[in-house]
Amino acid sequence: MKQQILNFDERELSQLLQSSCSLEPYRAKQLIPWLYRKRETSFEAMTDIAKSVRELLSENFTIYRPKLLQSLKSVDGTRKYLFQLEGGETVETVLIKQPKRWTLCVSSQVGCAVACSFCVTGTLGLKRNLETHEILGQVLAVRDDIAARKGYDGNGTLIDDFYNIVFMGMGEPFHNFDNVARAVRLLNHPKGFDFSPRKLTVSTSGVIPAIQRFAEEEVGANLAISLNATTDEVRNVVIPINKRWPLSELLATLRDFPLKKGKRITIEYVMLAGVNDTFQDLQRLPKLLHGIQSKVNLIPYNDNSGLGYSASSRQIIEKWHQTLLDRGLNCTIRWSKGNDISAACGQLAAKNEPKKVKKAAVRDHSA
Ligand code: SAH
Ligand code: SF4
Repeated sequence: MKQQILNFDERELSQLLQSSCSLEPYRAKQLIPWLYRKRETSFEAMTDIAKSVRELLSENFTIYRPKLLQSLKSVDGTRKYLFQLEGGETVETVLIKQPKRWTLCVSSQVGCAVACSFCVTGTLGLKRNLETHEILGQVLAVRDDIAARKGYDGNGTLIDDFYNIVFMGMGEPFHNFDNVARAVRLLNHPKGFDFSPRKLTVSTSGVIPAIQRFAEEEVGANLAISLNATTDEVRNVVIPINKRWPLSELLATLRDFPLKKGKRITIEYVMLAGVNDTFQDLQRLPKLLHGIQSKVNLIPYNDNSGLGYSASSRQIIEKWHQTLLDRGLNCTIRWSKGNDISAACGQLAAKNEPKKVKKAAVRDHSA
């Protein structure tokens, strides 16, 4: 059976090319720009590689793209892609419009085992991990789509290419460590995608051993932690793995986390009315973060009807923002994007949207 060539980093690929096709190791280096920079999907077109080698590659490997099932555009310009994988499962990828730089939000699993009580993905349970080619396939397919639109989106709005990638789509990236770390290595590759580590962010609900491994292996991406509570009592309910890795241990791990100069760990805090947004929470948070080089990202809750939570008021979110700034913390608010197409944080369920998409959103199959 043919292998997915996007599943191997440069070192693995050079070994494999040698063992399975008796090709010289430098062929891997030669392939990286074709696969990731030029996004070529046919070995035949790789004209600086000898024809006999191209034939060998075609016999042994395939170059993957997920199947685009649906692409929806939000009124705010954010675009959600629904992709089908080879086993028939579906995942979502979101191209988020931000004032200066567009960001791509990729999925790392189909569903998620963590089962956070406020998150739609968590209600699906874990179906399976994505392989490296399926993670990178999302990035490549979205770039293909942007190129096919010649940088313009529908009514003449310019869509820029994305500058940042966040592992904040469906799934817990640290339950799929090997594939996520390999995808990051390939995204970092200077002859390929060439995303510097500061343009990539991996977000975790707090899998402590994997946070330590992330540091030890010097994975080339920023770290974001979904804190979402200031007591174990509340965190045990909203993020059930807190029972295994409680707050004190998580914060101690973050205190020990080696950071390069000027770098910070992002602390995500989804604001749930009456649950984790009380005055006492606000008093506790700066104390918990003491000694951690962090930047707090307050996330207004995106309502998922049926899960029993509601969003904190704008007034409370702004009060938190100001108070944390006054306490000397670095703090921003992540105002939602793409709510009208269910593309915002915690709204990814990888379903085809119903025919009647909320009024303002645009269905778009033109890709
Ligand atoms: N599984 C990882 C990454 C994906 S979730 C993690 O939990 O960190 C990305 C972010 O979305 C997390 O910070 C999570 O807490 C947040 N989130 C989940 N559901 C949300 C919702 N309904 N509204 C706002 N943010 C949500
Ligand atoms: Fe999984 Fe993250 Fe959703 Fe929790 S918030 S269920 S960890 S995707």
